[in-house]
Amino acid sequence: MVSSGFAPAQSSLRIGLGRVLVVEDEELIRETVALALAEEGFEIIVAADGPTALEKLLGAADGSKDAIPDISLVILDLMLPGMNGLDLCRLVRHRGMDVPILILSAKGTEMDRVVGLEVGADDYLSKPFGMRELIARCRALLRRYQSKAKSDDTSALRFEGITLHPNECRAFLNDVELNLSPKEFKILELFMGRPRRVWSRDQIIDRVWGYDFMGDNKTVDVHIRWLREKLEEDPSKPKYLKTVRGFGYRLG
Ligand code: CA
Repeated sequence: MVSSGFAPAQSSLRIGLGRVLVVEDEELIRETVALALAEEGFEIIVAADGPTALEKLLGAADGSKDAIPDISLVILDLMLPGMNGLDLCRLVRHRGMDVPILILSAKGTEMDRVVGLEVGADDYLSKPFGMRELIARCRALLRRYQSKAKSDDTSALRFEGITLHPNECRAFLNDVELNLSPKEFKILELFMGRPRRVWSRDQIIDRVWGYDFMGDNKTVDVHIRWLREKLEEDPSKPKYLKTVRGFGYRLG
């Protein structure tokens, strides 16, 4: 089945509502939800198990060739074959993806709700639910994210050619997106927050890895080296991440 099989014929007349990924293994619910949202003008992608959903989401984030771009919202069932919804949600957030997630589950206890929100879901709806309510929640979530995206833009950190968006976990060098690991991103964020301030290796470890980090502070040097390879024209003569002999590192 084609993944966007639920887009209504007239969807082009109502563009801009967004693309929703419906992750649900029960066919009846999946298709009912997909049809209801498609009728509202959303473009729909479906996945019947955890791994397929993850593939579609990560593909979208990595911009890979076959990827479905720009998923605007995820409707996620909890009990799924392959990988459950909570693990999926956790993974997506761990990868720094800032897509709104609405959990849909028969497990409607307070405990599940709390766990769902803790792993990074934005909202929670218990089965059985009304379609009107689901659609209203989707719209509210999208609105919330859109206004958040606007305010996030002003929180971007800039230093010479580098721009970093803390809430989107994205960084750019001369408008080209950098492919940073979470630790590299956090180090760069720390430096960007206070350009020219010198950070010792211990301070960097405390801020980036946390106080319970068990490794040694050579780890910092390794990560700085990797960051330089991504940021610097000539990593052996760094323009951005400078070594301050006997102290540590600074930006600029
Ligand atoms: Ca299920």
